Amino acid sequence: MTSASPASIASSPLAEIRATIDRTASLTGRSGDDVHLIAISKTQPVEAIRPLILAGQRDFGENRVQEAQDKWPALKAEFPDIILHCVGQLQSNKAADAVKLFDAIHSLDRPSLVKALAHAMDAQGRRLPCFVQVNIGGEEQKGGCPIAELPALLTSARDANIDVAGLMCVPPANVEAAPYFALLAKMARDHGLDQLSMGMSGDYETAIMLGATHVRVGTALFAHARRHDRGCPRLTEAAPYRIRI
Ligand SMILES: *Cc1c(COP(=O)(O)O)cnc(C)c1O
Repeated sequence: MTSASPASIASSPLAEIRATIDRTASLTGRSGDDVHLIAISKTQPVEAIRPLILAGQRDFGENRVQEAQDKWPALKAEFPDIILHCVGQLQSNKAADAVKLFDAIHSLDRPSLVKALAHAMDAQGRRLPCFVQVNIGGEEQKGGCPIAELPALLTSARDANIDVAGLMCVPPANVEAAPYFALLAKMARDHGLDQLSMGMSGDYETAIMLGATHVRVGTALFAHARRHDRGCPRLTEAAPYRIRI
């Protein structure tokens, strides 16, 4: 905060979010160090990503293999301690590419992908921690394993020697996320899993309160100016409203 270098200016949303994570974690007696902030850099160009790396951010997430292949091999060569997380639906025929490039998978959601990932990890001698994504709201269009099929999927993943780190979810949009986070946390406990990938820009504080170990934040990190612009008209709209009542 004391330096006015371009890197520190660009990282100010990052610093704010990290401070919020620390504060929120401490409310439940945890350390902010136990919560991994994954910067979701999908659709962001390398020029927008680099300032975050220079400010110390190391966990990044992408949702498409092709886009990640275009952006990350050079950055990972330059910054070898970067941890790249795959957070998008993964086609089985992309499993080998994903295992080669990513360091963790958050979207393991079906038996055929267990098979493809296990095969790719064996072939490459790389073992990536995997989160099983649960379709926590039972939404038809959404990725994730149906709740009823989770026990069988966990068994097949463990049988295939996949390192299951925990559970991941994306709750339904536009409704209170807390009940879904609480349900995912309970399911993880029931299955002896201690890591939870849950919480995005709009609800990561709630997710941390309910036990998230990995929050996946995109918009709040990368679109700070846009969020700020959206906030201003609300203030000017509020004034005439207050006068009318
Ligand atoms: C895009 C995305 C995020 C980040 O969402 P924001 O609301 O931009 O923070 C998190 N998780 C997944 C799976 C995503 O696709």
